Amino acid sequence: MAKIICIAIPKGGVGKTTTAVNLAASLAVLEKRVLLIDADPFGACALALGFTQEKIKGGLYEVYNFIYSLSQVIHRTELPFLDFIPVNIRSVQMEERLLRLSENKTLLRNILQSITPYYDYIIIDTPPVLKGLTTAALLCAHSVLIPIRSGYFSLEGIDKLLKYIESIRETYNKGLTIEGIVQTMYEPHTKVTEIMDHELMQRFRKYLLQTIIPRSTHLNEATFYGKPVVLFNASSKGATAYLNLAREILQHGNEEAVNIVGGQSESEVQGSTL
Ligand code: ATP
Ligand code: MG
Repeated sequence: MAKIICIAIPKGGVGKTTTAVNLAASLAVLEKRVLLIDADPFGACALALGFTQEKIKGGLYEVYNFIYSLSQVIHRTELPFLDFIPVNIRSVQMEERLLRLSENKTLLRNILQSITPYYDYIIIDTPPVLKGLTTAALLCAHSVLIPIRSGYFSLEGIDKLLKYIESIRETYNKGLTIEGIVQTMYEPHTKVTEIMDHELMQRFRKYLLQTIIPRSTHLNEATFYGKPVVLFNASSKGATAYLNLAREILQHGNEEAVNIVGGQSESEVQGSTL
């Protein structure tokens, strides 16, 4: 069964899409079966993976409108282990309609159920707002990965998101966890970075991931060439960082599995002594 990870924070330009695309590609390079879903009407994931409009045969929009099933809009990518579902919004009217349809709280969760057995990870990119498709994604996700741009004050965005996650946990999705906070576009040795590092350690230490994504022109350039950075320049700092992020997230999966197995075996042991 796929682990569904939603990439979210209500702040623009902090590296959500770059993280969604490159984390998905890195997990795929590590031979995990990955599906990347673009749930941002802006549609930047398609550009970052080199999907021009002619190459898109349908997306989330058609699925929400019951024109196609989810499996009909799965696109293969250059990486054998990575599949992709674009959002496929081509007008303001389509965007408004998708926003209205995304208010249905259970639709995405129900639709995804049919394909979760075929993937190890489903990564969902979201827009820089909490309502609409971000909420739909949070309602069906197992965890949230929060990218924050180093030196750019997005800390109040984290507070807002954490409160929202708490309310979702209390209502629709009790199992939702926080995968972690990942710093992006990191530039060491600057005053702002120093201040932000200090603030993050003070307020969100338990969520901070070890992997830090440095500012890297290769990451920016790769988007223009429509490739994940690992296919654009596999030895670049950016590619290495996202591979490390993928490994750290895989490690979380292993720890969760150990916890579950540990819990079961404990009760089995207790049961056997009765
Ligand atoms: P939006 O909220 O508008 O969807 P976003 O949070 O998805 O934005 P991105 O589109 O991923 O942010 O990144 C914003 C810009 O920063 C892009 O031009 C991207 O190429 C660039 N960028 C992202 N990460 C890095 C990095 N580590 N180094 C250099 N440039 C980066
Ligand atoms: Mg984006």
